[in-house]
Amino acid sequence: MLLREVEYARPSSVEEAVRMLGAHDGARALAGGQTLVNVMKARAASPDVLVDLNRLEELRAITVSGDTLELGAMATYTQLLASSEVEVTRPIIAEVSALIADVQVRNRGTIGGNVCSNDPTNHLPPLMVAVGAEMVILGPDGERTVPAADFFLGVYMTAAGPGDLLTKILVPAGRRDAFEAITLGADSTCIVSAAASIGVAADGTGVRVALGCVDAVPILVTPDSADEAAVRAAVQAAGLEPPSDVHASSDYRRHLAEVVAVRAVQKASERS
Ligand SMILES: Cc1cc2nc3c(=O)[nH]c(=O)nc-3n(C[C@H](O)[C@H](O)[C@H](O)COP(=O)(O)OP(=O)(O)OC[C@H]3O[C@@H](n4cnc5c(N)ncnc54)[C@H](O)[C@@H]3O)c2cc1C
Repeated sequence: MLLREVEYARPSSVEEAVRMLGAHDGARALAGGQTLVNVMKARAASPDVLVDLNRLEELRAITVSGDTLELGAMATYTQLLASSEVEVTRPIIAEVSALIADVQVRNRGTIGGNVCSNDPTNHLPPLMVAVGAEMVILGPDGERTVPAADFFLGVYMTAAGPGDLLTKILVPAGRRDAFEAITLGADSTCIVSAAASIGVAADGTGVRVALGCVDAVPILVTPDSADEAAVRAAVQAAGLEPPSDVHASSDYRRHLAEVVAVRAVQKASERS
């Protein structure tokens, strides 16, 4: 289906982009377009103005500051895969980016677009929650930082609301992470996913597991230990009510959530 007519703006600075997003109620940021253009074609979204972020090179930067990896919102999956900063500081981000769709989508799709669309089947929302990322948002009232665990509000809804621009994502350094999913075919859409991080407490203990595709937002559980029984108990205690669809019933998703959580924690535990 063809797109309906839409105004198009290509700001040359981040400040100009925020001004443009705030100036029109119906304005939407355009990042890689891999979700937005498709939902516009399906008439599921109908913005009045597209504010194209692709000229804003500063939003593509990947840097390390002390123990924190700083990922520009416009960094593509392909950039994340090739980044030595990511490899050294939080390699799971490259590992999971490699699982997303195909090379065409990875060349265009961005980390900012992935989290801002918050499709529950996307790979990066649960990963960002598990690793304890923080989202830096610039809006008409200035800049604020929101923990990933509070960023995801509903399907296609996040703390980056109308007029806001996600500028970067801050990720603490760490290596004991893993991601496991049951997908529709290899490297494809997740039916259920789990991202796990071990050693999140200051003393090197602590387990965080974020489950994807079982609710509108990633569900964070914090088992008492990395033991299988503790992980299963934590997932059960979350009282999941996953959706049923053509790919999996609610009961089957609930079962898979335990399976992928155990696998992810076990894999993360084996890493140093
Ligand atoms: C065939 C296909 C298969 C796919 N498979 C997967 C998959 O297996 N796993 C997966 O995770 N994803 C998958 N995707 C989705 C893909 O990863 C998209 O790239 C991603 O969801 C959106 O990123 P984008 O940069 O293209 O954002 P866009 O489509 O440009 O934008 C998405 C939304 O985010 C908003 N937005 C974007 N950037 C910002 C910002 N900086 N600040 C505020 N709002 C912003 C936009 O306004 C829009 O509402 C697939 C896509 C396709 C086409």
